[in-house]
Amino acid sequence: MLIDQIIGQEEAVETIKKAAKQRRNVLLIGEPGIGKSMIAKAMAELLPPEDLQDILVYPNVEDTNNPLVGVMPAGQGKKVIENAKKQNKGQEERRNILMITIIAFIMAIGFLTNQFLSAIIAVGIVFFALYQLRPKGQQSTPKLLINSDGKEVAPFVDATGAHAGALLGDVRHDPYQSGGLGTPAHERVESGMIHRANKGVLYIDEIGTMTMKTQQELLTAMQEHKYQITGQSDNSSGAMVRTNPVPCDFVLVASGNMEVLKDMHIALRSRIRGYGYEVFMKDSMKDTPENRKKLGQFVAQEVKNDGRIPHFTKEAVAEVIKEAQRRAGKKDALTLKLRDLGGLVRAAGDVAVEENAKEVTVEHVHEARKQSRTLEQQIADRYISQRKEYSVFSNEGSKIGCINGLAVIGNSSGIVLPIAAEAAPSQSKEEGKIIAAGKLGDIAKEAVQNVGAIIKKSIGTDISNYDIHIQFVQSYDGVEGDSASVSMATAIISAIENIPIDQTLALTGSLSVRGTVLPIGGATYKIEAAAESGMKKVLIPASNMDDVLIDKKYVDQIEIIPVKTLTDVLEHALVGPQKDEFIKSLKENKIDKIKNYIPN
Ligand code: ADP
Repeated sequence: MLIDQIIGQEEAVETIKKAAKQRRNVLLIGEPGIGKSMIAKAMAELLPPEDLQDILVYPNVEDTNNPLVGVMPAGQGKKVIENAKKQNKGQEERRNILMITIIAFIMAIGFLTNQFLSAIIAVGIVFFALYQLRPKGQQSTPKLLINSDGKEVAPFVDATGAHAGALLGDVRHDPYQSGGLGTPAHERVESGMIHRANKGVLYIDEIGTMTMKTQQELLTAMQEHKYQITGQSDNSSGAMVRTNPVPCDFVLVASGNMEVLKDMHIALRSRIRGYGYEVFMKDSMKDTPENRKKLGQFVAQEVKNDGRIPHFTKEAVAEVIKEAQRRAGKKDALTLKLRDLGGLVRAAGDVAVEENAKEVTVEHVHEARKQSRTLEQQIADRYISQRKEYSVFSNEGSKIGCINGLAVIGNSSGIVLPIAAEAAPSQSKEEGKIIAAGKLGDIAKEAVQNVGAIIKKSIGTDISNYDIHIQFVQSYDGVEGDSASVSMATAIISAIENIPIDQTLALTGSLSVRGTVLPIGGATYKIEAAAESGMKKVLIPASNMDDVLIDKKYVDQIEIIPVKTLTDVLEHALVGPQKDEFIKSLKENKIDKIKNYIPN
């Protein structure tokens, strides 16, 4: 059973079991690659296959544009079609026998009376009459729209990204329709995914990307449990056709991340909430022996499902688990972004296969990790080397107002984010201006304003007496900026006080309004990026220390210094003859106050 293969999502699994029993809808919210579609598929396996139905569309003699719909237990539909065909065939045979008999009779009379010409004309008339009276071809055979014959599990239909026609059904266009020569309407009817999911699961990821109109129709289908099929494009002859209601009694499993909720039809959301469950899925689990064992099970599963790669040694499994720790990015946790981790498993397997190895070893996993760097990681690599070449940041000496911040792009790549600040006494009598350049301008402005309060409190300087220019040197899309507030504050203080900053140092941290340094995400990747860029020291929030799982090769390259307050940061980051005096006054004046705010 698929449900037994789902790892780390116990709550979601319990919910899905409950929902399957009661045939409830489910909304799964969470990051990509944590098993949402897997859970939806597992739900289909839990639904009773006995309920499956066949659906047929029949021609409607009274109104050809309104085909009729028949529903019957699975397996019956096929028989109905066979019977109809047999009947058609039987009719044809009877017609042929009748014709031959009549012809023979006329010929016999003609022969007996020597009226050959009249006999031939009579045969012609009979032929013509029979041709005119022929039953209209296959028209009486219904179309088997949904065939559930022999199915042992309820259907699972993935309608992610489906357009209206595919989702709701369609009637094909027929250019000959108006001439009466065309394909009969009922044969042009195509089922939609909602109909194919009848008695099973309809799964839609990123549900918010569907148009409101389509979501509205989906809601109607859910409420009625049936939905008429009509041509979806206005100018097509299919749009004239509308079937009787076709059953679509599915369970909806919708999914997406938090963002998706914004674009989700409100009534649809409330339908799910009212007649189902909402689950917020996890992206990591606790690092316990039991959960490590589950990851071991995961590796075995992925090997089995792939079918082409050898099994992992115990040590290689341990290495994958270690990677799961790193990727979780916080202490005592293992990542549940298992799609990506599965990618690593397969890549390691491929390396082993290439080497004709019988087992996947630790070395294979290492090699795979190198080879299967994500796009973001590759971009980060390139930035690091480019920036080194053009010396966008320096990793030696000291400078006023310049600091090496750190940021994360994507989920798992760090980069050095140089920040430069300049401060000049304000020209105007009123407020000083904050001028922020670079792509992170807005975030920077906001951060500078927050930083202002802290600077006032800790060094007594009112930054509104200054025009402050702050720039993220060469930043680019995808960098988040809130973890740069400690760096910004340091750069501004350096600029105001004219005290240089150690350029062999990089740092990260978010600043609270009280001057304490708050934890940030991606500590490991940021430290690795700093080391990779030639930095000697890195400051990180003390509360992040347990999250640090850097690669062995970086351990001797860089000193990691935990910091708790802005004063700690300044003590490490500032250099030069004025520094000691400044820190001393800082401590004497304010440090006690700041200390009181340090969370434990
Ligand atoms: P999502 O729908 O959340 O993006 P999927 O369900 O498509 O993720 O997961 C993709 C693949 O990753 C699965 O087929 C499976 O191999 C692996 N996977 C993801 N999450 C899990 C999980 N919780 N347990 C086991 N395997 C998982």
